[in-house]
Amino acid sequence: VPSTVKEPTLWRADFNDFIKWCLAKNADKRPFIQDLFAHPLIKDVPEKPVVVSVQKHFNHLKFIVIAEFNTIHEAAVKNRNQFFNYSINDLAKLEDLNEDSLLSHLISRYNMGQIYTYIGDILIAVNPFKPLKIYNNEYSNRYRSADITKHDPHIYAIASATYNDLIINKRNQCCIISGESGAGKTVSAGFLVQHLTKLGNATTRALEQKILQVNPLLEAFGNAQTLFNDNSSRFGKYLEMKFADDGTVTGAQLSQFLLEKSRIVSQANEERNFHILYYILYGFQFNKIAKKYHLPENPEAAIFHDTTKAIKTRYIDKFREVQECFHVIGFSKEELDNTFSILAAVLQIGDIDFLRDQSNEHLIERSLIKNNEKLRVVAKLLSVNAEDIEDALIRNTTAAAGEVIVMNNTVTKATECRDAMAKALYGRLFAWIVDRINMLLKPDSHYDRLYNIGILDIFGFEKFDKNSFEQLCINIANEQIQYFFNRHIFSLEQEEYVTEGINLDTVSFKDNKPVLDMFLNRRNGLLTILDDETVLTTSSTRTLVDKLHEGLAKNEYYLQPRDNSASFAIFHYAAKVIYDASLFLFKNRDTLQQDIVQLLSTSAHPSTKTTYIPRKNANLLSINDNSDQFRSLPYPKVKSLKSKKKLPHLLGRPRSGSNTHSKLTVASYFRNSLAELLSKMTEAQPHFVRCIKPNSRNEADNFDQDRVLTQLTYTGVIETTNIRRQGFPNRISFADFMARYQSLGFSATRKVQPTSDNCEKILKACKIEDFAIGKTKVFLRYYHIQQLAKQFEKQ
Ligand code: ATP
Ligand code: MG
Repeated sequence: VPSTVKEPTLWRADFNDFIKWCLAKNADKRPFIQDLFAHPLIKDVPEKPVVVSVQKHFNHLKFIVIAEFNTIHEAAVKNRNQFFNYSINDLAKLEDLNEDSLLSHLISRYNMGQIYTYIGDILIAVNPFKPLKIYNNEYSNRYRSADITKHDPHIYAIASATYNDLIINKRNQCCIISGESGAGKTVSAGFLVQHLTKLGNATTRALEQKILQVNPLLEAFGNAQTLFNDNSSRFGKYLEMKFADDGTVTGAQLSQFLLEKSRIVSQANEERNFHILYYILYGFQFNKIAKKYHLPENPEAAIFHDTTKAIKTRYIDKFREVQECFHVIGFSKEELDNTFSILAAVLQIGDIDFLRDQSNEHLIERSLIKNNEKLRVVAKLLSVNAEDIEDALIRNTTAAAGEVIVMNNTVTKATECRDAMAKALYGRLFAWIVDRINMLLKPDSHYDRLYNIGILDIFGFEKFDKNSFEQLCINIANEQIQYFFNRHIFSLEQEEYVTEGINLDTVSFKDNKPVLDMFLNRRNGLLTILDDETVLTTSSTRTLVDKLHEGLAKNEYYLQPRDNSASFAIFHYAAKVIYDASLFLFKNRDTLQQDIVQLLSTSAHPSTKTTYIPRKNANLLSINDNSDQFRSLPYPKVKSLKSKKKLPHLLGRPRSGSNTHSKLTVASYFRNSLAELLSKMTEAQPHFVRCIKPNSRNEADNFDQDRVLTQLTYTGVIETTNIRRQGFPNRISFADFMARYQSLGFSATRKVQPTSDNCEKILKACKIEDFAIGKTKVFLRYYHIQQLAKQFEKQ
């Protein structure tokens, strides 16, 4: 045995899995490994299961593999069992806590197909990238207890703990799911909803079905294929399930924010537009309905890439599923028809092209529409006059000092208007779908009191080769969620020890508040600098970048480039990201020319023609951009406009309240949305799920240790484990404790004073040890809550 193998970490694997793992991990050594397995020595190894030992970094593969096969063979024959049970399911119970031990436990569990592991009451979920048979009825029935330790760690167990917390403590709950793009947040959110729906025993099966269809529907509209994830969420989602006093699920409410609308008009290399656009193209393709929506006969030409037969079939199936979702949730036929019209319009607006008007009389550049037939198709789909769209795209009406000025748009400007119109239409459609879902899932009004379980699933942290404004917002949101986690796990807990006079060593952690402050500080934070530049008419990318450098260069989390490029780098909690600021001002303004706002609002509903009012402070959480200025309009009702007469407003006076300067920037909406989200989460009892992406290739059976270690490090898993082990995550006032647990130590009918002594009596009666009593609160370890829940179940 070579000296490199000291006390190797034990690792249990299926023989075939082991070979696969070696091959994946050591692509450059492939020929050697294949030779090795052809070696006669290997024949002696029992086929299944095999125990092997590996070292963390696997530098000396040659020696280790040979040495270990000898050892294994002996060990496996001598004492199998000793190896087969070697992994614990709660890292807070690890005796020897360090990176290696955390990692080796996660690996050995992963190789046994156990993707879930606890750190006390926090769930770690390693994405298996393959279907597992652990999300069925049998599992649903198994995980109903509040005691998460009863069975192996599972996402259903977190749902049950959350649900039971609501029932016992009668307070709002939230589940915060975090992790980088492709780590498995959306899938986890889906399983939480599924199990909570089951636990909540909805009054009708129809309601249950409605709730279950919300996620797939939104994914069709808000998710897209990216480099990191074939089904990447391009918006943030907070789904609140509503429960009555008795624990029955009664409805749901959804908030969405920051839909990445820019994807509608352009996508990075090898990325795709929102799923639904492909679904509708292919879903209708062989159908006479395609004609009804004027969809192109050749979808490939419309989406600029070839599609295999398998993918086409998938799109068609998915489209059927989406229609079913709409139907189950309760959308009417007419609403669906309007939705498809708008989607078909969005798909084709981009095909409207412009050319420069060459006639001599126009000294100033002005544009003309090149392909009028496309214009007419779009007009038909939106039920507006083709000339009105034309006017709105090639001319620009503004008001200054009481005068109406009509200017011609250049080709560039007209193209920008066209793209802005497509983005606005899609953004508005998305917001409308969410509003409509909320209407259809609203609980009956006869419930006195309802409690929420909120499930947060946002777009994960992103770092591409080129990162723009969208990545900045996405990463700030992730930074905020990490801060919420830190604050809940570390700061609040440690502050309370001090005020309550509990003597405990403090656990240090990497606080990301300074980075967050650098972004959000109202006086001189990055978003404020950006907003200030955005409203200036004289600003340019250069002035913005100069101001950012000037204002932030001293900040240790900000890095100015050495060259003159329009970029800057940020040291995020997860990684350093370089941002290209070129389109920041443009994207932050997200202007929709006044003419288009009016055109669209007219299209939406004739009776609301004059009700266009910017709604600055409406429900901010559900506002995702500036196009929501006309969100008060019922939409999409495009078909209801019968009159095709020319609308006078393009030349008339702009209506009051339409002053474009009063608009909030995208960054401001975003900041407000985040604040509102946070306030909802802060008033609820949080539960955390941390998703881990085991490799960058989205492969099954591939655990890239370095990749996982990076994630464990930046999310502070070691520190979290430490504080879960030493600390008291549950701190309950004497009065609350007595109200909840009196029956475990006293007769439930007696009047017992909520004193520290009486609380202690209950704890002792339940044989709970190692708790602490503060000045006003009982301090409990994470597993105490489960022990108390067990006592309840016994009663
Ligand atoms: P993003 O931030 O890009 O939205 P995400 O964290 O939401 O990423 P998901 O879309 O949930 O990532 O997961 C990516 C893919 O990983 C899924 O499409 C699925 O193939 C796979 N996956 C995730 N979790 C599981 C699971 N529990 N079982 C099987 N496959 C899974
Ligand atoms: Mg997602």
